[in-house]
Amino acid sequence: MKILLVFMVMMTIGTLTATAQEVTVTKRDVIKTSSGDLEIIFIGHSSLMMTFNGKTIHFDPYGKMADYTRLPKADLIFITHDHNDHFDMTALQGIQTKDTVVILPPICSEMIPEGLIMRNGETITVQGIKVKAMPAFNMVHVRDNGQAYHPKGIGNGYVLTFGDKRIYVAGDTENIKEMKALKGIHCAFLPMSVPSTMTPEMVADAAKAFKPKILYPYHYNETDPTTLTKLLKNTPGIEVRIRPLR
Ligand code: ZN
Ligand code: ZN
Repeated sequence: MKILLVFMVMMTIGTLTATAQEVTVTKRDVIKTSSGDLEIIFIGHSSLMMTFNGKTIHFDPYGKMADYTRLPKADLIFITHDHNDHFDMTALQGIQTKDTVVILPPICSEMIPEGLIMRNGETITVQGIKVKAMPAFNMVHVRDNGQAYHPKGIGNGYVLTFGDKRIYVAGDTENIKEMKALKGIHCAFLPMSVPSTMTPEMVADAAKAFKPKILYPYHYNETDPTTLTKLLKNTPGIEVRIRPLR
């Protein structure tokens, strides 16, 4: 608890400058589920921490966003892909214990041989939590050499089931058809940054298709997150939540 308090104090420094009324500045949300509260802590960029039933779950720990040696140790760590803003061994080792399960795509497995590999489309239950690995790739945005920033079949997104709520952490991807076909997602974290992931228009297109109840744009770097709020303001049933991530 003491560590978490230090962390919470630390995280109040450097918050987002609110430029529009709809921007809510907070670092922690709680989602009620049929099996207890899911707490979400926004560390920054794509780095998230969640707690559920006494378990601590980290996503894409990235040392630029926090001193991970001071954060609660992980029961589960999810890695979406091998880019260094998502797969940071130093940050990961700061929260890893001998009991931590690291879930990762095949491309990251060489660095973490003890990890649990998931391929696109696979489903497992780990520590009582059902997890599905989703594809995550670019269809449109490519590098100068013509290669996708995120080629198909490499990275994962993850859908996790906590009680009666399904949470989707998309990783670095565009508005692919597999995403748009999702059903029953309570919270979705969708990346919004140009050129490597989605424009606000692509995020809005995906959200209109699979209708998450709560939509968190993340990984938004230089993109103004309030653009998404404006794009979805006439779409009922989707609450866009902007949280400070940079
Ligand atoms: Zn990436
Ligand atoms: Zn990224």
